[in-house]
Formats: sequence, structure tokens, C-alpha cells
Amino acid sequence: MNLVSIDSLSDAQIEQLLVRGESWFKSNRSSSRGEAKDLHNKLVFNLFYENSTRTAMSFAAAAHRLGAAPVFLPVEQSSIKKGETFEDTARTLNAIRPDCIVIRHRENGVPERMINLVDCPVINAGDGTNEHPTQALLDALALKVYLGRIEGLKVAICGDIRHSRVARSNAKLLPRLGADVRLAGPPSLMPDDVPSLSIDEAIDGADVVMMLRVQRERLEEDLGDAPGEYLARYGLTKERLSTAARDAVVMHPGPMNREVEIAGDIADDPERSLILLQVEAGVAMRMACLEMLTLG
Ligand code: ASP
Repeated sequence: MNLVSIDSLSDAQIEQLLVRGESWFKSNRSSSRGEAKDLHNKLVFNLFYENSTRTAMSFAAAAHRLGAAPVFLPVEQSSIKKGETFEDTARTLNAIRPDCIVIRHRENGVPERMINLVDCPVINAGDGTNEHPTQALLDALALKVYLGRIEGLKVAICGDIRHSRVARSNAKLLPRLGADVRLAGPPSLMPDDVPSLSIDEAIDGADVVMMLRVQRERLEEDLGDAPGEYLARYGLTKERLSTAARDAVVMHPGPMNREVEIAGDIADDPERSLILLQVEAGVAMRMACLEMLTLG
């Protein structure tokens, strides 16, 4: 089994991941954490061709907490820089016999290519603008842990939807769990096939407001916005949040551009912000994913 897209998962598998994820979330908080040895002697290879803080560290922590050994390929110092092809790198790594490969790549579809080159399960840790399935799963887990439900929630996902693999995976996963997802962003940052909704329309009455980073590294032309302009026109400010449901919670996959897509005081508001809870849920959900893929 591989995890390259939310579409790779059946409803029963999603349910199983949420149940196991919640159980790992609780045990990671308790004093008995770190005693699980389910993946003892397993090798998890982490290949990050694109920058990462949360995903890379939480996959490493997840492997470690399960008793597996996380091993990172330092891409910048590897033979990739000597011109080795992706196929040769994949076959080389496969010959070392890992039990799972976690891969992030700037191009869409690379994790899918990896599946055909190796014998172990492959997990997509984000491919270009395509998908980031474990992020959506951890977002669902954070909602389940914090709000106790996903079914019936109105979720506004706002910002740079065009370049967001997080939005794409969440737009597949959350409706399958019974949430009503609305996508909104600046017109130039919306995909052509998604009807345009204004940020204000999306946030109005929402139970969950998920803000996304402007992915300037993927823009062909800079937005040309003046300092403060993006926040005022499209960002999450106190005024905008006041139009959401009374106890609405705020999410962001990180890294945040403070005072661009989200005001710093909202990001830091312990009553509203689930941002660090998302990170914590990330370790638990990645434990559940590693367990499902390597133990079956
Ligand atoms: N960390 C997320 C990702 O890798 C979101 C982002 O980079 O803005 O897709």
C-alpha cells in the first residue's frame, strides 16, 4: 500500500487512521510515550527535495516514537547534485532495503513515479501543487481532537489555493468526513476550475478558518502588493474573523507569513488558534500512517 493521494484511501482506512491517530495523540502526551516498539528494526527513508520543517521533523519523530529508524537523505550533499537521475537514485535507495520511503518533491507526480521503482511503501510528503495527504489527515485529526467532530463543520480554506497541495488534499478529505468546504482567495491565486468566492463570503459563519501561505516561490510574477495590502484585502484580521461562527477556530499548515495572510495576534490567540495543535497532531497522524503502511 502507498499513500500518494487522499484518493489512495478507502473510507474505512481514513476512519482507522483517525482512530489510531487519536490514540497516538493521547499517548504522546502521556508519560508512557516513546515506549511503542511496533516498528522496531524498520528503516524509514526521508527524501526532502523541497524545504520542510514540520513535515520532515514530525515524520522523523513519528518513526522514532514507533521504534523505527528515520534516515534522512541530505539532498544538497547527495549524488543528486552530481547529476544522478531520479530513477537511479530511487533504485539505489531501494537496494538498501528501506521499509518505507517518505518523499517531498517540487514536481507534481514524483511520489507516484517512485512507487514503480521501489519495493516498499511510499508516502507523499507533498508534491508540487498536487497533494499533501498527511497534512489533510492531520488537519482532520486536529479538528477531531479539539472539536470532537468534523461532520457538519463549515470550513473556509482561504488564500493561495492555486498553489496549495494542502487545499487540494483537504478539499478531497474533509467533505468525505461530512464537512462543508468553501475555497476562496485572490482571483489570481484561484485555480481556473474553482468558482471564485470572496474571502468575506467564505469566512461568513464558518466554524473553521484555514489560512494558506502565499507561495511566492511558485509565482511566475510577484503579486506586486504593497506592505500590508494583502492582509487588508485577503488576510485574516480580527474584523474578518468576527464574521465567522462565534467559537470559530483558526488553522494554518505553516510556515506562516505573519501580517500577510494572517494577523500575528490571531495566530497566537490560545482560544482560537489550532496551529500548534496541528503540528502535534502531525506526529500522531504520521505514526498512524507509518504503522498502517509498514505493518498492513
Ligand atoms: N507546509 C505546507 C506545504 O508544504 C504549506 C506551505 O508550504 O505553505 O505544502
